[in-house]
Amino acid sequence: MSKIPYKIYLNESEMPTAWYNLRADMKTKPAPLLNPGTHEPMSASDLAPVFCDELIQQELDNDTRYFEIPEEILKFYKMYRPSPLVRAYCLEEKLGTPAKIYYKFEGNNTSGSHKLNSASAQAYYAKKQGLKGVTTETGAGQWGTALSMACSYFGLDCKVFMVKVSYEQKPFRREVMRTYGASVTPSPSMETKIGQKILADHPGTTGSLGCAISEAVEVATSTPGYRYVLGSVLNQVLLHQSVIGLETKAALDKYGIKPDIIIGCAGGGSNLGGLIAPFMGEKLRGEADYRIIAVEPASCPSFTRGKFAYDFADTGMVCPLAKMYTLGSNFIPAPNHAGGLRYHGMSPVLSQLYHDGYMEAVSVPQTAVFEAAEYFARVEGILPAPESSHAIRAAIDEALKCKETGEEKTIVFGLTGTGYFDMVAYEKFHDGKMEDYIPTDAELEASFATLPKVE
Ligand SMILES: *Cc1c(COP(=O)(O)O)cnc(C)c1O
Repeated sequence: MSKIPYKIYLNESEMPTAWYNLRADMKTKPAPLLNPGTHEPMSASDLAPVFCDELIQQELDNDTRYFEIPEEILKFYKMYRPSPLVRAYCLEEKLGTPAKIYYKFEGNNTSGSHKLNSASAQAYYAKKQGLKGVTTETGAGQWGTALSMACSYFGLDCKVFMVKVSYEQKPFRREVMRTYGASVTPSPSMETKIGQKILADHPGTTGSLGCAISEAVEVATSTPGYRYVLGSVLNQVLLHQSVIGLETKAALDKYGIKPDIIIGCAGGGSNLGGLIAPFMGEKLRGEADYRIIAVEPASCPSFTRGKFAYDFADTGMVCPLAKMYTLGSNFIPAPNHAGGLRYHGMSPVLSQLYHDGYMEAVSVPQTAVFEAAEYFARVEGILPAPESSHAIRAAIDEALKCKETGEEKTIVFGLTGTGYFDMVAYEKFHDGKMEDYIPTDAELEASFATLPKVE
């Protein structure tokens, strides 16, 4: 067969036209969201004040295998998709590994990450419902940036609560959001009741994702014509992100390539859930087998050290309870530099699959992640996001194992975004000032003790 090109692109006609719902092939379905007060499963009407109607249908549907992608979203996707699947020849050569390494690069759009795949879908459905706008939270800013782009395209108002420490430390992302017309408020703020309470209880706090979620939900549910949208964790987000995996599989199939190992970083689980979707589907149906590896920061190890239990999605405890691998909604991870991976919980879909033994997880300390990031930048050219670099770390480690054993495994990993807005983190790394914070068992136990008791 001819040499595999450096970049495998799909033609427009080969692009996926439907999202794949992995839940349809799961024997044990992810546990339902529960009402935080009554502990009863949330129905569509319970969720209606918070989320858009059509997204609620997607959220609750464990059976429909394919959801057609609306024409308007396909049009938007075509501005920056298909994303390339790159054969990392230079990296392979430099490592001296017999492994074949591919990465799916999602950083090729202005927001700089995969998050635009779901932001555009969520903005479209909000507009279709005739809403005025949406609210959300953002940590490091990737989700807020993606959502503000999608909202300006579809003509929706966008209110972003940005974790205060990022708001102050990442002025450039904030200004990108404002360029696309979003309003950006540092969280916790005095604009919401929950923000006022958090500020009274913890004066001087620099905020957290859980806290910003509570504020965004409060504004959405108390402002007519607004709903709340979330950039990860939820089933609907994994559904939209399946476009990553479907493109990857189509590109590999074009050249008859079958991966052995599929690797992705895991914050709330959306890029990984999307990347693995069609492969995991084959695995669940018994048609093929793959090793699937989630990579998380050692400072926020939901899979590798968390508990599989019902927990709050937010610090304010206003959101539904989700059954997931969690460190406890009170857990405030150390300020590591992969903001997009600093969430206490994990997608219920991936949590169930991990619990049932369909995938593995590893955690990596951040200096090892930045070593891999810099190595990759120098060899492959792309300056990776710190989040994405978790996957790079694991892919390099697997490729080095192949070097020892001589196995020619095919490794595919998700390169979720670029790191241009993360240069302060790179600076710390270069100056030798980066620390590897790892929570103690006692800290985790204290947080587990606050998990809600659900029968
Ligand atoms: C948000 C983000 C992640 C982590 O989110 P998931 O929902 O776990 O995919 C990873 N990489 C980048 C670049 C991000 O912006």
